[in-house]
Formats: sequence, C-alpha cells, structure tokens
Amino acid sequence: MRYVDEYRDGDLASRVAAAIAAEADPGRHYALMEFCGGHTHAICRYGIEDLLPPNVTMIHGPGCPVCVLPIGRLDMAIELAMRPEVILCTYGDMMRVPGRDRTSLMKAKAGGADIRMVYGSGDALRVARENPGREVVFFAIGFETTAPTTAVALVQAASMGLRNFSVFANHVLTPSAIQAILDSPEVSATGTVRVDGFIGPGHVSTIIGSAPYERFARDYRRPIVVSGFEPLDIMQSVLMLVRQLNGGRCEVENQFNRAVSRDGNGKAQALVERVFELRDSFEWRGLGTIPDSALQIREEFADWDAERRWQLRYVPVADNRACSCAQILRGAKKPLDCAIFGTACTPENPMGSCMVSPEGSCAAYYLYGRWRDTPQRAKTG
Ligand code: SF4
Repeated sequence: MRYVDEYRDGDLASRVAAAIAAEADPGRHYALMEFCGGHTHAICRYGIEDLLPPNVTMIHGPGCPVCVLPIGRLDMAIELAMRPEVILCTYGDMMRVPGRDRTSLMKAKAGGADIRMVYGSGDALRVARENPGREVVFFAIGFETTAPTTAVALVQAASMGLRNFSVFANHVLTPSAIQAILDSPEVSATGTVRVDGFIGPGHVSTIIGSAPYERFARDYRRPIVVSGFEPLDIMQSVLMLVRQLNGGRCEVENQFNRAVSRDGNGKAQALVERVFELRDSFEWRGLGTIPDSALQIREEFADWDAERRWQLRYVPVADNRACSCAQILRGAKKPLDCAIFGTACTPENPMGSCMVSPEGSCAAYYLYGRWRDTPQRAKTG
C-alpha cells in the first residue's frame, strides 16, 4: 500500500476483522496494551474496538507525553514562567494541564507571565534570537521522538553562543515505562491488570528501533508488534499479536516496517547521546519514580540547562484525589471508570492531564467514545 486512503479501506478492514474473529480462540481472552497515545487516539477515532471480538480487548497505556509529566515538574515550569526576565516557550497542550492548586501555564499567562506556544525547539531558538534582552526557556517534554530535536537546539545554541537560551528538559524513555508497567503490582503481583501483549509505539521506534523491546518479549514472555497509526496498521498488528499468542510465541515483530527498522535512526541516537545522559531517577505520573527513565542535559551543555541556571528543585505533588489519571496511565482503569469523566472533567475544563492532550485516553474517549460504555455504566452505577 502506498497512499493513506489504502490504510483506511473499509472493505480491507472488514476482512482483517473477520480474520481476527476467526483466529481468536473463543476459549481465551486476549488483553493487548497499546503503549502510545497516538494509537489510543486512532483506536478511539476509527472505532477499532468495535471491530474486535469481545475476547480481544485493548488496554490504554502511558504513552502520552503530556499525561505522564507529574504535577511537580509542571510547577517548576510555572515557577520559571513567573520570573519577569523569562519567556517560557511551550507546546500548546501543556498550557491547560492543571498544576498544584489548579494553577496552569494558561492561568500564569493570564496573570502576566510571558509564555509563548511553539511547535518545536527551533521556534524557541528563534524567540531567543529575537529577544536578546530576555531569558528564553524551552519547556521540553516528550519521549524519544522529540528528544533529538531538543538536542539539535542545544547544539545550535552552543555553537551560536546564544546565552539567553536554555532548556528545561523532561524527556522520558519508553522502554523504562514498559518495564514499569510489567513490574507494577497490578500486572505482576496481583494480576488485576492483564497484559498479554503490546502494540509497540511507532514514532518512538523510528528513533530507537525495535531491538530495545526484545528483552521484554524474552524475559517477560510478552509479544510486541510495533505498529503504524492508520486503522489498518493497528488491525493488522492485533492480528499479528493474536497469531503470536495462539502459537505460544513471544517475539518482537515489526508491522510498521515502512518507517521502523530494528536498529532505528543512528544519527538521531548519536545526537541524543552527545547532549543527554540518563537521570538517576524521574517521577512519572501514574508510574511513580523510575530509575534511569529520563534524560538530563550533560555537563558540556550545562550553560543551557534551565534547571542548573535557576537551581530549580523538584517537589513531588499528589494528584487531585478525584482524578483517576494515575490508574488510567497504568492500565488499571478506563476513562469511564473515573467518577468525574465528562462531568466535572471535560476538555474545556480538565481536572487531570489525560483530558488535555488529544493523545490522552480521557480526551480520546471524550471526543470519540464517550457513549460507548454508557448502558453498562448505567447498569452498574
Ligand atoms: S476524567 Fe479527568 S480527572 Fe478523571 S481520570 Fe480522566 S483526566 Fe483524570
């Protein structure tokens, strides 16, 4: 297939759905976790769960970068933005995420903070060049997909001697999160969350390749299929997982081979390696503190590290007690299990991070699937 329409072909999707239904053993249950928020969005948008037999279910994982950033790190960004000398450059999604005491970057901006929405680190560099009398900080978030572009900005800032630019780095690593899911009490000890296999993230894998997942398939006996983002990509990946599980195989397979290789993008990996090193530990919303799960700026680029420049200190902050984002990010709950989904918490008035970014499970459900489980909810509620 060469064009996007072909990946959305309804007849072909029906045939793949029929193959899944025919090959899924009615005597067993297949619980498949999609790690990436882009997959969650596509699954909800195209109604993929409606095409699957009842014994093949999807569990939504922690792959939305906005969702997994803990409140304490957001508070650090708000603290920075409140400094009169600072222009904080951020992705638009971060603006509405609630921080401590229901503050947000949006409210800080309304209160006078100079916060600018950007599409990437290059825009932030431009703002720094245009405002030599101000301190411009790029609030960098994301998985391995966005870390290389942040690294480029740091290398450029250093080569230009751009002293009024710095990066507040919050890049996190996918394999560490998959490991945390597999080691979580819900999955490993109590078995309250069953994960039989993973739909592996597509965009992240274009950078890191599929090889980093091989240890999960081997050591945890969970098959992984790296998938593209079109509906037929995901349907085909589900079929590949069902076939692996039926055959008792636990391998890494690559459905997204038009973009992903086993070893990934060596140039991007080298760039990230040059600029960043592993943090000893990093707190994730929902997954807790995970060692070696995030990146920090190396000493060579310390002059462009906002955390060092302003001696920022991380203070953990508990999530809103009414919010189930933490359980949703671990796959232990679905959005409709949250008591305030669609009532007190909506995309216009988010109470938790999962309702903010379109890649968040709650936002995807709200946009595309909020009525799906309503009869069941009414019965049990
Ligand atoms: S509905 Fe809102 S408060 Fe509840 S889990 Fe989702 S984002 Fe959090």
